[in-house]
Amino acid sequence: MTPLQTGKIDELKGGFEGEIVLPSDAAYGDARKIWNAMIDKRPAIIARCAATSDVVRSVNFAKENKLVLAIRGGGHNIAGSALCDGGIVIDLSRMKAASVDPKGRRVTVEGGALLADLDAATQAHGLAVPLGINSTTGVAGLTLGGGFGWLSRKLGLTIDNLVSAEVVTAAGKTVHASASDHADLFWALRGGGGNFGVVTRFEFQLHPVGPDVLSGLIVYPMSEAKSVLRQYREFAANASEELSVWTVLRLAPPLPFLPANVHGKGVVILALCHAGDPKKGEALIAPLRKFGKPVGEHVGVQPYVAWQKAFDPLLATGARNYWKSHNFTTLADGLFDAVIQYAGTLPSPQCEIFFGAIGGATARPAPDSAAYANRDAQFVMNVHGRWDNAADDTRCIGWARDFFKASTPFASRGVYVNFLTADETDRVSAAYGANYDRLAKVKRQYDPENLFRTNQNIRPA
Ligand SMILES: Cc1cc2nc3c(=O)[nH]c(=O)nc-3n(C[C@H](O)[C@H](O)[C@H](O)COP(=O)(O)OP(=O)(O)OC[C@H]3O[C@@H](n4cnc5c(N)ncnc54)[C@H](O)[C@@H]3O)c2cc1C
Repeated sequence: MTPLQTGKIDELKGGFEGEIVLPSDAAYGDARKIWNAMIDKRPAIIARCAATSDVVRSVNFAKENKLVLAIRGGGHNIAGSALCDGGIVIDLSRMKAASVDPKGRRVTVEGGALLADLDAATQAHGLAVPLGINSTTGVAGLTLGGGFGWLSRKLGLTIDNLVSAEVVTAAGKTVHASASDHADLFWALRGGGGNFGVVTRFEFQLHPVGPDVLSGLIVYPMSEAKSVLRQYREFAANASEELSVWTVLRLAPPLPFLPANVHGKGVVILALCHAGDPKKGEALIAPLRKFGKPVGEHVGVQPYVAWQKAFDPLLATGARNYWKSHNFTTLADGLFDAVIQYAGTLPSPQCEIFFGAIGGATARPAPDSAAYANRDAQFVMNVHGRWDNAADDTRCIGWARDFFKASTPFASRGVYVNFLTADETDRVSAAYGANYDRLAKVKRQYDPENLFRTNQNIRPA
């Protein structure tokens, strides 16, 4: 730091309610860790904001000092966009409060909350917002990209339940965006990622859910994959919107309900959650048990918040991760052949291929009703490369890329922006399709200098 910079940092610290973490601080090492261990960036300043006023201060500081700026919500983004090299990180991890109005069925939640924070607050009242499937993900990044999970077929994307947002813009102004207030900004926030400002507070509408839901796993051997996948396709085409069944192809983890001789063997897992009366759910899921001869099953009625955490141990922070993703409107037989071939050559025990089933309520809004454009997606596939040692980077990334290529002919042209890696900036337009031009115009209005560019960037028109 030059003396000038040190003086500037003292200025930033003055009146800052949160904490300023610098490379010389003991807290720095942990403060720059995010979910994907492949990301190794060294910001000059990590501004752990405690209030909206801290965010305003940090945005203005970045502009005045011409610093690159990154925004950290839950730190889960695969591309590592929560951090920057040099520059300042606006870290919202201290801003996690959620406040529920059970009568009005609304929740407001701060921009650094994790899904677990929001679920805990809303489920205390038997209510929920549709969110993702890993409770340590940030509400902010997930929402700003679209957001889908077990409740989405019934209740829509996370953004379809967003009522309003408090946003600190590039001008350093705090604005309230909703359908009637800064309507263009509100439209852009619903899918446009962190391009338009720092969201310090989200307001969502709530729905009765659970608090107990029928959920769990039915596991088939890889030898039955083709037949299971074909039956899954037929089943999914007619499934109740209350029921979500996702498929995962991977090596079986040593889960206690699986016989020891299945551990480490290739399996097709049907992961399911029924978001209605569990008794009705039992009848709906019965056919899933008849796709073949399951090697194990763990299905029951459990708290929704427990199911929301079920995959956390398999998705813990600290592994190396590389993803590739496609959207699909239908699942073709040729795709199944490619899936089975690549599931047969998984380069690490943690790698997997999954198909998240969406459709239902997510597909009903018009593609131009919000920035999130690909309403035709019935399935979102994630080729999840995951491993521990840097020595395996090339092999594991190569596998993900090869399978991605092999599955491309069967995919729709769209992609989910939240699953894009850092090397996929050429796919940003595929995430937004016909909405891209309008997004670029809103970007020009709210961030003409592209201050918020450490993301899947939309350039100002
Ligand atoms: C294990 C795992 C499971 C996942 N499962 C799902 C799933 O089921 N469904 C789903 O839809 N997605 C899922 N995702 C993807 C997830 O939605 C994205 O990774 C998302 O970006 C994570 O948000 P975050 O706040 O944790 O990320 P961060 O890395 O903190 O932020 C990502 C980007 O979002 C923007 N951002 C973050 N906070 C703010 C804010 N307050 N204001 C403005 N911009 C902000 C910034 O541009 C930032 O670079 C999953 C990801 C992981 C790693």
